[in-house]
Amino acid sequence: MINTRRTFLKQFSGTAGMLLLGSRAQAEDTSSLDRADGFGVLVDTTLCVGCRSCEQACNKVNTDLPRKTLAHFKDLSILEEKRRMDFSTYTVVNRYYNSIPEAEQKPVFAKFQCMHCLRPACKSACIVGAFSSESTGAVQYDSWKCIGCRYCMAACPFQVPAYEYRNAFTPKVRKCTFGYDLRLAGRAAQ
Ligand code: SF4
Ligand code: SF4
Repeated sequence: MINTRRTFLKQFSGTAGMLLLGSRAQAEDTSSLDRADGFGVLVDTTLCVGCRSCEQACNKVNTDLPRKTLAHFKDLSILEEKRRMDFSTYTVVNRYYNSIPEAEQKPVFAKFQCMHCLRPACKSACIVGAFSSESTGAVQYDSWKCIGCRYCMAACPFQVPAYEYRNAFTPKVRKCTFGYDLRLAGRAAQ
């Protein structure tokens, strides 16, 4: 793994390599607008009651994320704060009110995770090509290519990519994989 990464960085160090990667990424972004086998997830916020079950399910299937207890997901007091995804969380539900006073308003809940953009800003910003778009439209991240510059975090308009600051030796960018492992195993939820 280390040798592969070293070889990769050697091959693509220098301006020429970066320009090559940049033009390739742009070509992929254009073709991504016409995918016959693409798919997505639609969320109807008018039905969402903010139960956080989707957060729990996301944590359950993404076994490489830190484990969280059922009690953690049942605790709705966490909705008091506005959260974003982090190194341990690919899916977050937040609660909003249209105006004050909040006590008189019906709350609205919104689920956040990677949008798997057709033209991903994270992918455009990454100088080593660590992001790629699958034929399904899912945007994937290759940690072995990543050099930790965190340009992707600055580029994403939805503040999605998170960084493993607590991991001193092999930190990675973390974001939703669109169930990559499950789909690979043919076990994606219907
Ligand atoms: S990380 Fe951000 S820019 Fe990249 S695909 Fe996800 S939402 Fe889009
Ligand atoms: S931190 Fe983000 S932009 Fe930088 S190399 Fe890693 S994936 Fe690419």
